[in-house]
Amino acid sequence: MKVFLHDDYSQLTQTPGHPECPERMEAIISRLPEVISPADMIMPVPASEDQLALAHEPDHVSFIKNFGEGYMDADSYIHSHTFDMASLAAGGAIQAAEYSFDNKVPTYALTRPPGHHAGSDYGGGFCYFNNVAIAAASLLKKVKKVAIVDIDVHHGNGTNDIFSYSKDILYISTHQYGIYPGTGHFKDVGRDEGEGFNVNVPLPARSGDATFDHAFDKLIIPILKQFKPEALLISFGGDAHYKDMLASLTLSSPGYLNLLAKLKEFGAEVCDNRTSILLEGGYHTQALAEVVCGTIALFNGKEFDMKYDEVMDTDGIGNEYVGKAIEVHSKYWDV
Ligand SMILES: [Zn+2]
Repeated sequence: MKVFLHDDYSQLTQTPGHPECPERMEAIISRLPEVISPADMIMPVPASEDQLALAHEPDHVSFIKNFGEGYMDADSYIHSHTFDMASLAAGGAIQAAEYSFDNKVPTYALTRPPGHHAGSDYGGGFCYFNNVAIAAASLLKKVKKVAIVDIDVHHGNGTNDIFSYSKDILYISTHQYGIYPGTGHFKDVGRDEGEGFNVNVPLPARSGDATFDHAFDKLIIPILKQFKPEALLISFGGDAHYKDMLASLTLSSPGYLNLLAKLKEFGAEVCDNRTSILLEGGYHTQALAEVVCGTIALFNGKEFDMKYDEVMDTDGIGNEYVGKAIEVHSKYWDV
């Protein structure tokens, strides 16, 4: 696995006390030497404005660029350096995805700020440009089908909206029901040509390891296998972890790795290892560092000790909700 990382990913600031803070990246960087050598790390360059426009209206790009300073929404501040930082995150996402595609090697883009709440003409929820959507749109110049699996605890409303009408991009999201941004109902399946290609799996609070395992085995992996993408992108949020303070799902660190192992295997079997992971949220810095570095170790076939291994959902607390998504999607897929 190659890791895409830029020194400036630790430089971006929001406002004092904000959870999307430089310490997130510093915690990850402090553990990277345990799982990867410097020779396997690549420094990305910023996305161009033309590349940002692959997933955004030009007006949105100039809005972020020329905003000045102040709140974009209640949670997201724009500083003079935000446009450059967000462009650099999008660049990392594109270059990680392209590298993976060209070399058939899994990649991890350790980018900040996150992106999945940014739509074609809006930002929000700590997101300015939709990194994964830009990367997917960039890959679509080379291939016909790309799948995005979003395991952040929040629904990726921006990614969902950008590809709502597309049958070429399969967007699958697991997220906690009823929290920010309030979207991602299981009946939101995409529109027109894209109907059936948005797969939303909202889960009740306390859902964790057993529920996710069920969702992946009965719904997500079967749909991925039927869709047969040529590349797999993973929006990786560490905030579905039981240690995270922003939400109430309860994945353990081994629970995360169990899901990533399924995606790794799928990416190897179906996509020739064209698998790229892009960082979204995750606000308990130590748990985030543990699951990110555990994932890199997994892809490199290395052991990695994890201390946040308490399994809180052993019975499938959210299986009934998974069942609702299966019922809706049995119209489009053999699930
Ligand atoms: Zn999140």
